[in-house]
Amino acid sequence: MKFEVLAQYFEKIEETSSRNKMISIMSDLFTEIDEEIIDIAAYFLTGDIAADYRDVKVGLGEEMTKASVAMASNVDESEVESKMKELGDLGDGAAYFYGRRHELYQDELKTGTNLTVDEVHQGLIAIANASGSGSQEEKKRILASLLAASNDLERRYIVRLALGTMRLGAGDMTVLDGLAEAFLGSKDKREPLEHAYNVSSDIGHVAEVLAKSGLDGIKRMRVAINRPLRPMLAQRVDSLTTLMEKIGSEVIAAEEKYDGERIQAHKDGDKTRLYSRRLNEVTGQFPDIVQYVQDHTSAESVILDGEAVAYDFEKEEYYPFQRIMNRRRKYDVEEYAEKIPVQYVVFDILYKNGKSLLTKLYPERRNNLERTVNETAKMKIAGRVTSSKLEAIDEFFQECLDRGLEGVVCKSCGDNSRYRAGAREWSWIKWKPSYASDLSDTLDLVIIGAYAGKGARAGTYGSLLCATYNKEEAVFETVCKLGSGFTDEVLENLPDKLEDAKTDSRPARISATKDIEPDYWFYPKYVAEILSSEITKSPVHTCDGDGDRGLSLRFPRFQNWRPDKSPTDATTTSEIVTMYENQEA
Ligand code: ATP
Repeated sequence: MKFEVLAQYFEKIEETSSRNKMISIMSDLFTEIDEEIIDIAAYFLTGDIAADYRDVKVGLGEEMTKASVAMASNVDESEVESKMKELGDLGDGAAYFYGRRHELYQDELKTGTNLTVDEVHQGLIAIANASGSGSQEEKKRILASLLAASNDLERRYIVRLALGTMRLGAGDMTVLDGLAEAFLGSKDKREPLEHAYNVSSDIGHVAEVLAKSGLDGIKRMRVAINRPLRPMLAQRVDSLTTLMEKIGSEVIAAEEKYDGERIQAHKDGDKTRLYSRRLNEVTGQFPDIVQYVQDHTSAESVILDGEAVAYDFEKEEYYPFQRIMNRRRKYDVEEYAEKIPVQYVVFDILYKNGKSLLTKLYPERRNNLERTVNETAKMKIAGRVTSSKLEAIDEFFQECLDRGLEGVVCKSCGDNSRYRAGAREWSWIKWKPSYASDLSDTLDLVIIGAYAGKGARAGTYGSLLCATYNKEEAVFETVCKLGSGFTDEVLENLPDKLEDAKTDSRPARISATKDIEPDYWFYPKYVAEILSSEITKSPVHTCDGDGDRGLSLRFPRFQNWRPDKSPTDATTTSEIVTMYENQEA
């Protein structure tokens, strides 16, 4: 397929605000495109060039991209700069200069635009892989030659792919809907595709298997080492009695709940790789955990699910979540590993010696985990109690709090206790002290807008517009204005922090009323942890708004940034609705 045809599909998707229309355009694309390159189309639609966990990102900075546009178009960088400012997007800037190609690139200019999807993909991969001395020039040159050989529409999307700012608003689930409609006849048949995606975390691979081997191929897809699974998540309730009712089994295991970073470890012989909650590879950040896993697991190959927690080995004390976030770094890794030591607490085993354990029930997985991991202070198995008595669970919960833990995660020991990758199920329920009393558990909201600061806040933002994620509709819905809880430092840094997400107009897939129109819009990118005291009806917010009034948070206060969460991992609209109903009950 010519890249020009794919670019036309992107344009159509960008222009529609209806999710159903978007799915049907994608379905047309998946039907038309050759099965050999359908994976590329799936990656491009979600703004990537490979599966997330492979860590192949083009990630060209704006400066370098501008230089490439200038090179390809034979104009000055300053001209590109001012056009970009005028149009608000470097992709559109690149498109504007179409027709002014540099003579250096005449060779690459065939008649018309003949770039294929594969050529663009290979070019972007080559940019991502270029390293070492002279690589910056090499990257610029490759991008410039792609741009020189493309028309205006193609330029727009090549530049956006290079910058990592595709932002068509097509989330993974929407792409899966498009695939289901194209190959299975209806988006309502997405379920097996979603399962395949949850165990492989590779949207391109799912598309390719579906196109080449149909539903049978999808059903044969298995867990594999070095391909992270989307983590299973926990529900929450407002009382222990509800917990006992909802969990779906008489015997419950209450496990210690640690406040750290979710880490999935894949051990394959003498190599171990680690993946974050967002499925990025974080092996390089935690050489200590790699060593623990090598030293303390007996299996030849294994996938473990667990939490890395900042820990003082001498005092035997845990540190809160924010501390371990300082281990997110590319440089000075060893120094920080010493400064902020971690304990790796494992609570599940998903694969062992060539076999998936996902369909095994929790009690069997837990036994297997205990046989596989030799516990030490560095790597331990989550402590727990199993009981069918509420009092025993409550007693253990209190004990956990006394030891400085966050609470417990209660797990079903019954027939519903297989590991469901990517799902938030009732067979896991988190229980923290705050759940019972009021809404003082935190929410994770996406920053989508800001209001100019006045007075003491001149020069920064006065408040931020926050949104929940409506999973069913794949849109972000506004739920509050956030103006308090910031430290001076966070407040001062807001403009810098949010700069790369800033855009001139409301991005696609955001639902907001005119009444709360912000001064600045942001692409959904940054997630903040927010504390609030109550959920109320709101005439202006769109969270669960059905043409009538939506829901909003009262007195929201900023707590922390949540770099370990992507916008689609934010608190969902339906979670807010459940919390509102519980609060009103
Ligand atoms: P979520 O992961 O549910 O979206 P979150 O990241 O904001 O939410 P919490 O709501 O505090 O975190 O709790 C869930 C998280 O608790 C899990 O994702 C996991 O990282 C962590 N956790 C700690 N201990 C355990 C345990 N024993 N079993 C399962 N998860 C645990």
